[in-house]
Amino acid sequence: MSALLTVENLNVSYGAIKAVQNVNFTVHDNEIVSLIGANGAGKTTILRTISNLTKPTSGHINFQNQDILGMASAKIVSSGIAQVPEGRRVFAGMTVQENLQLGAFTRDKGTNLKSEYALIYDQFPILKERRNQDAATLSGGEQQMLAMGRALMAKPKLLLLDEPSMGLAPLFIEKIFDIIRTVNEQGVTVLVIEQNANQALKIADRGYVLESGQITMTGTGAELLASDDVRKAYLGG
Ligand code: ATP
Repeated sequence: MSALLTVENLNVSYGAIKAVQNVNFTVHDNEIVSLIGANGAGKTTILRTISNLTKPTSGHINFQNQDILGMASAKIVSSGIAQVPEGRRVFAGMTVQENLQLGAFTRDKGTNLKSEYALIYDQFPILKERRNQDAATLSGGEQQMLAMGRALMAKPKLLLLDEPSMGLAPLFIEKIFDIIRTVNEQGVTVLVIEQNANQALKIADRGYVLESGQITMTGTGAELLASDDVRKAYLGG
């Protein structure tokens, strides 16, 4: 398996706070990799740094053998990385379909959006039903689907998901993780960060545990799920 994304010796600080310290990890082609950790461990900071929304103090980020550190965020998207932000951030006052359209902003002008919407609606039938509704009227789970659909409109090679289960009812959480698996089976590589270690490790090929800005453990999803340390710290014993 070849490396799609490589993060090397990454350090990110907010003033005196060292949010990310010497972090190294790799995501291979077609994998699902989960980065788990408690609130404040530095997960969001890592994703934001990959998308160049936060500047690191030092380190390297390679995507498809290209150094993307410092590259304009829109260029990162067009090179194949799309992010689903924490809290979904769908655009209120715009319809579901208009939100999807925004996800295609880096695509060629000639792209047939109708057929692209159809692909998303196949994956998320509820979005088709609600396509003319204001995105703000959707439930939390539906907004998560819309945020994922919007990111997929960019036709990414790598999808970054920031806590997709946050604030969702258990049934929706199951559904969202099923969808992540399906999206992956269709050829999209996934890096997901989560506090919900159980679900995130169940779907993961491999995982990393982040504690106070540092990676403290790594293994296959199954290995981490079975680990006593992970069970005690993240799975309620
Ligand atoms: P959460 O689950 O809350 O999103 P996280 O694991 O994603 O947590 P980060 O949001 O990356 O963690 O935060 C890592 C550390 O950096 C925390 O100590 C946080 O308080 C701090 N931090 C994050 N953003 C900023 C900022 N803009 N300014 C100052 N400190 C910040």
